[in-house]
Amino acid sequence: MLHPFFTSVGPLVLGTEPRQRRALSRYLLSASVYAFSLLVQLQLQGTMWSELAPPQVVLGYVAVLSLTVSGFYVAIRSGFSRRFADPSLTVVQMGFAIVALAGAYLINPYLRGMLLMIVALVLIFGAFTLTPRNCRRLGWFSVTALGLAMGAGVWLAPQLFVPQIEALHFVFSLVVLPTIAVLAGQLSRLRANLRTQRGELSEALARIRILATRDDLTGLPNRRHAQDLLAHEATRAHRERAPLCLCLIDLDHFKRVNDTLGHAAGDEVLRLVAHQSKPLLRDTDVLTRWGGEEFLLLLPETSLADAERVVERLRQHLSSAETWRERPELRVTFSGGITAHHEGESMQETIARADDMLYRAKTAGRDRVLLAA
Ligand code: GH3
Ligand code: MG
Ligand code: MG
Repeated sequence: MLHPFFTSVGPLVLGTEPRQRRALSRYLLSASVYAFSLLVQLQLQGTMWSELAPPQVVLGYVAVLSLTVSGFYVAIRSGFSRRFADPSLTVVQMGFAIVALAGAYLINPYLRGMLLMIVALVLIFGAFTLTPRNCRRLGWFSVTALGLAMGAGVWLAPQLFVPQIEALHFVFSLVVLPTIAVLAGQLSRLRANLRTQRGELSEALARIRILATRDDLTGLPNRRHAQDLLAHEATRAHRERAPLCLCLIDLDHFKRVNDTLGHAAGDEVLRLVAHQSKPLLRDTDVLTRWGGEEFLLLLPETSLADAERVVERLRQHLSSAETWRERPELRVTFSGGITAHHEGESMQETIARADDMLYRAKTAGRDRVLLAA
């Protein structure tokens, strides 16, 4: 748990929008590095190297840096930066950090070894957010900025910036910094590729899940998935001591449809039956394609009497001429066998009882629903 101080100040400093909060917390981290570096710079300036840049130059540098660092904060916190493609302003921030470091290089040449390392560190950050192209651009930008600082140093204070040493520093930067930038860009591309692949994988997985659980023709859960649903509902029914009914449905004289109108018409009937049944069922009822022209209807938390009402309503709806108004030739009826699942018996036993009832409904003349407790 965070201290109450942080929970109340946090939203004020970072805002409430998650992306902005992430961008700002990252930014405040780099701002504290700026603040620390400035304090070190001022401390050294005051104590050890007073012969370097005049105080007004140093103060000017500190002022510009503080203003810009606060400016970035305001731009992100106020939401102004949201109008840009990169709302965290990463490229601009990195560019600014490089300019600031080049400035520091000029002001305090004793620290240049450290500063060159920090420039390298800034470029490495590109691996997280920048495109490879922007990484390379920033690499060249850093070489240019440092080159200008070195040149200016040699020109303004040759006693502190020995030309041969500065030339060596420049060659070193020219080789190392663009290399780091290119490597950071490759890392960034690798991250982007991984992200794309992850997206494609989860899409494929979702598709496979649909293919494995749905019946292509009707879109209903297929037999395998129906078995899982049955097991799941049985466990739940036992746990909650709730009734669970199921109904086997078989279309009547379906072979005739295929024989007289063709297989495609038969397929259309199966699709229409699934489609027509949906609106008559409750959200908790699950109609599955058990195979061929057989359907298994699961009715959780339903008494036998209620199950009969639901299936009877379905039967009447499907056998009504009105339902098939647009394709009267496809009209089919069905027979059904309903039963309740009892605690202690297997699902196979329950289904066998429903199948028995279905068989009786067929022999009794079809287009009817029979039930067994
Ligand atoms: P009953 O009233 O006794 O159930 O008669 P029926 O003709 O419906 O019974 P039968 O089991 O003899 O025929 C079922 C037919 O369903 C046979 C099969 O070709 C057809 N069938 C099964 N699956 C499909 C399918 O996916 N599409 C089509 N068009 N026909 C199918
Ligand atoms: Mg059949
Ligand atoms: Mg049939």
